[in-house]
Amino acid sequence: MEKLLFQENRSLKDLCTFGIGGMARYYMEVRSVQEMQHALQTCLEKRLPYFILGKGSNCLFDDHGINGVVILNKIDFLKKISDQIFHVGAGYSFSLLGTQTARQGLSGLEFAAGIPGTVGGAVYMNAGANGHETCESLISVDFLDEEGGLHLLKKDEIEFSYRTSSFQGMPGAIVGATFALTPFQEARAKQLEIISYRKKTQPYNQMSAGCVFRNPVCGHAGALIEQSGLKGISVGDAKVSELHANFIVNSNSASSEDVLALIALIKQQVYQKTGIKLESEVRYISF
Ligand SMILES: Cc1cc2nc3c(=O)[nH]c(=O)nc-3n(C[C@H](O)[C@H](O)[C@H](O)COP(=O)(O)OP(=O)(O)OC[C@H]3O[C@@H](n4cnc5c(N)ncnc54)[C@H](O)[C@@H]3O)c2cc1C
Repeated sequence: MEKLLFQENRSLKDLCTFGIGGMARYYMEVRSVQEMQHALQTCLEKRLPYFILGKGSNCLFDDHGINGVVILNKIDFLKKISDQIFHVGAGYSFSLLGTQTARQGLSGLEFAAGIPGTVGGAVYMNAGANGHETCESLISVDFLDEEGGLHLLKKDEIEFSYRTSSFQGMPGAIVGATFALTPFQEARAKQLEIISYRKKTQPYNQMSAGCVFRNPVCGHAGALIEQSGLKGISVGDAKVSELHANFIVNSNSASSEDVLALIALIKQQVYQKTGIKLESEVRYISF
């Protein structure tokens, strides 16, 4: 193992918004496409399992850590191709991109303000809010396969649906994305309304990974949890938020076991009371 490249035993708690997780056996930060290529090739050569990490805002890490390599994506360039087209590194803040473009009177990513992930994480998850999704304004994605081959995938070559994308089944890493936006003078005003609503309805000052469950076809997961009388219940330090029932917050030093037990309890109770099976949106990364 190249000493310069990989760091050993890095705490995962500090690398995610839940503040939960053991140690990554190996850890590295990449700042360019070439560094990502090198990292992926090294993992392949040494047969080490790897995990590509953005801001860790949709992850629940195992208390036992990860027995592999965590590659933190810090490829964060922003290139303005034309007045309305932007080519962005996958490690760039999605929220910042949304704010910057709305301030320029451009529409398409107003909803991104307040989503605390990277552009890569948003494309991978097809993040969305307020009736809009990441894929809507996307033109193409720069994707590195495990051998280090760089592919420019046009939007129509990628499948997107509610909080899913083809990337969820593709080994490799998203390294960049290109977005096309449309002029709209009121974009920033619309965005400020979205931010203000979020602050009122979501527990922003607490550790969480956003919405824990996907919304079922009929209705909202949060409403079903609330109707089942589960708002405010806890397992250890993992608690169903009093503000938004689809958020589980880490009220102090919750473990992944606490969160998993609370998720299981919610699923079971909601099914018993409503007949609806909830599915997790948060990604659990086991040892
Ligand atoms: C307070 C709060 C509010 C939130 N609000 C919303 C919301 O309104 N809408 C919404 O959709 N989500 C929301 N989220 C969830 C989360 O922010 C999004 O899912 C976000 O897109 C995840 O991005 P990330 O960079 O943090 O990804 P991570 O959590 O780091 O990773 C998530 C998954 O993406 C993969 N991944 C990340 N980057 C790459 C890459 N470059 N290449 C390949 N795979 C990659 C990871 O391997 C992992 O499987 C919220 C979270 C919080 C904490």
